[in-house]
Amino acid sequence: MKIAVLPGDGIGPEVVREALKVLEVVEKKTGKTFEKVFGHIGGDAIDKFGEPLPEETKKICLEADAIFLGSVGGPKWDDLPPEKRPEIGGLLALRKMLNLYANIRPIKVYRSLVHVSPLKEKVIGSGVDLVTVRELSYGVYYGQPRGLDEEKGFDTMIYDRKTVERIARTAFEIAKNRRKKVTSVDKANVLYSSMLWRKVVNEVAREYPDVELTHMYVDNAAMQLILKPSQFDVILTTNMFGDILSDESAALPGSLGLLPSASFGDKNLYEPAGGSAPDIAGKNIANPIAQILSLAMMLEHSFGMVEEARKIERAVELVIEEGYRTRDIAEDPEKAVSTSQMGDLICKKLEEIW
Ligand code: ATP
Ligand code: MG
Repeated sequence: MKIAVLPGDGIGPEVVREALKVLEVVEKKTGKTFEKVFGHIGGDAIDKFGEPLPEETKKICLEADAIFLGSVGGPKWDDLPPEKRPEIGGLLALRKMLNLYANIRPIKVYRSLVHVSPLKEKVIGSGVDLVTVRELSYGVYYGQPRGLDEEKGFDTMIYDRKTVERIARTAFEIAKNRRKKVTSVDKANVLYSSMLWRKVVNEVAREYPDVELTHMYVDNAAMQLILKPSQFDVILTTNMFGDILSDESAALPGSLGLLPSASFGDKNLYEPAGGSAPDIAGKNIANPIAQILSLAMMLEHSFGMVEEARKIERAVELVIEEGYRTRDIAEDPEKAVSTSQMGDLICKKLEEIW
């Protein structure tokens, strides 16, 4: 079990450190050990090697079973030419190298953190607990032909059967271990690519008789996420619709510091949904929960350690319920705990409940 660990820039190193503490608890409790190979990416790699994704880092990633990333980028490197910047030359290049086809973002609004959410208690209802599954490799962002001249600009929205089958299976597999509901979001009343999407999703659904499938048009889905987000379990959607809906969903909990993500490809990549947060980097105030929950996703999806993942999620939830808050989710910033304190609290709780 080999993990490529890429702390990166900004708050990356601070929050990755806390997640690795949690992994140590898991190792101690299960007797399993992970080989962690550290690599440089982004601005960190530019400073050390003069390039954002050095060969050494590529090699580490390709030899690992999973990649655990902090975050990449920051104002220090903004003046470099685009392809040499941490984001494009580092993170986007890495994502491309891994042939990622699915982006998974679980979104949870904890009952005790309703005060941070932009939505009212009444709307949050019994809590929000959903996952967006976004197709990442096809659709209008990649379809050919595309072009631009003085008179017109155009893109092509294409989906083929194979691609839809693969992403649909990803969503149904995730739903199987959750509340067993998939909402497939498309625009099949207007778009041919969505008509195929809907047809193939229906076919895949037959392999999963225990999972309930509904279809929703994207305009309605955007509205329903604000009106009644608790109705969703797994949202399955295309690249562009997923881009928009996953960011809309990410706004519901009120802090990026709570949100993990996973991307599936030749190798799976696990990273927080937020970025390098340069405004708070280096101050030991960032919320490590997004990174810690990304670790839980890695254990579940790359190493089959489902129970261990649930335990980490439970420990996080209990620490929040007990009232501990980093600054981003605190009602009173004076009483906020630091990044490292939050990490320690979660480790302690995890040991207690194991
Ligand atoms: P990037 O270009 O790397 O995405 P950014 O400037 O867009 O950087 P983000 O990381 O996307 O910044 O963060 C957006 C906002 O959310 C910032 O105010 C940041 O401080 C906050 N934020 C993001 N992650 C966390 C975290 N883990 N803990 C606390 N606040 C966070
Ligand atoms: Mg950002």
